[in-house]
Amino acid sequence: MARAKANRPVLFSGVEVKPGQRQTIHLDVAQLYTHTPLTIPMEVVNGRLQGPVLLISAAIHGDELNGVEVVRQILSLVDPHKLKGTLVAVPVVNVFGFLQKSRYLPDRRDLNRSFPGSLKGSIAARLANQFFNQVVSRCSHIIDLHTAAVHRTNLPQLRVNLDDPVSAAMAQAFGAPVVINAATRDGSLRAVAQAEGIPVLTYEGGEALRFDSSAISMAVKGCIRVMRSLGMQPSRRRSPPHPMVVARSTSWVRAEQDGIIRSQVALGAKVQKGEVLAKIAAPLGHGEFTLLAPKEGIVIGQHTLPLVNEGDALFHLAYFEQQQVEEAQAHIDSLLEEEPNHGMVYDVEEPGLT
Ligand SMILES: [Zn+2]
Repeated sequence: MARAKANRPVLFSGVEVKPGQRQTIHLDVAQLYTHTPLTIPMEVVNGRLQGPVLLISAAIHGDELNGVEVVRQILSLVDPHKLKGTLVAVPVVNVFGFLQKSRYLPDRRDLNRSFPGSLKGSIAARLANQFFNQVVSRCSHIIDLHTAAVHRTNLPQLRVNLDDPVSAAMAQAFGAPVVINAATRDGSLRAVAQAEGIPVLTYEGGEALRFDSSAISMAVKGCIRVMRSLGMQPSRRRSPPHPMVVARSTSWVRAEQDGIIRSQVALGAKVQKGEVLAKIAAPLGHGEFTLLAPKEGIVIGQHTLPLVNEGDALFHLAYFEQQQVEEAQAHIDSLLEEEPNHGMVYDVEEPGLT
């Protein structure tokens, strides 16, 4: 095998980071009306040897916090002297939303529908433009970390373009419970980066405004496994690859009437066609409605608020080819057992690199 070449300095927002160094960089994005400058904090870890430039980004939706903690843990694990290539870690992309504990920007626009943005557009378009040109377009691989929207929770899952072999290999290495070969949405970071030929994994796990120890832990380990598969981190031991469980399709089951919901199934559960997902009734108990699974599948997303309006999306089900649903459930059960959710207790041991 050819010996890796010495790395070169990298430049972000006018700050040079030499090989073997790590540097905190503040990307200027705006000035608040308090006259306070608003910057996106990022940490660049530049390895001594050449390799991929991996962006790990979180909180493009400002209320999605699990990824922020994932980035913190990964930064504590990565040593620029042992790293090949460059890690660009951005824990909070949507700094406006993060301050307001909101998914959106102050103009109510969704940053993840605003890429690649423009210099003269809305506040969302300008932030997207700045982040895209200064950071995204300079990276060779991306992992973008999300959670479900507020009042919903997601089983840890990847959304990826499996037709791209590099993205598919990254998804295989990550080892998430479920992989969805998902079409991109216009204006999303994934759509725009993919169009530029940059492979992107979009990770979804847990819910907005909360830490989910299971989703955090699976993401930290998944990112490190991707870094190893790209040759960025040393692999000390050979563990067999996780099976990649790919959903054939997914759909949301919606409320057929409004009321107070009592969910009968948990995230990760396998449900049969016609199985009861939830019961919905008025506060006095009148007119109870039973919501059934339309097909056999696995619950990968769920409404968490007990109050529902008619038409609300309540359960996100993933469907599999026949026979594969058993394999999918065994894989999901073993990962959930390995990485249990500790509820409101957040005191998990950080994974080592061994
Ligand atoms: Zn999101």
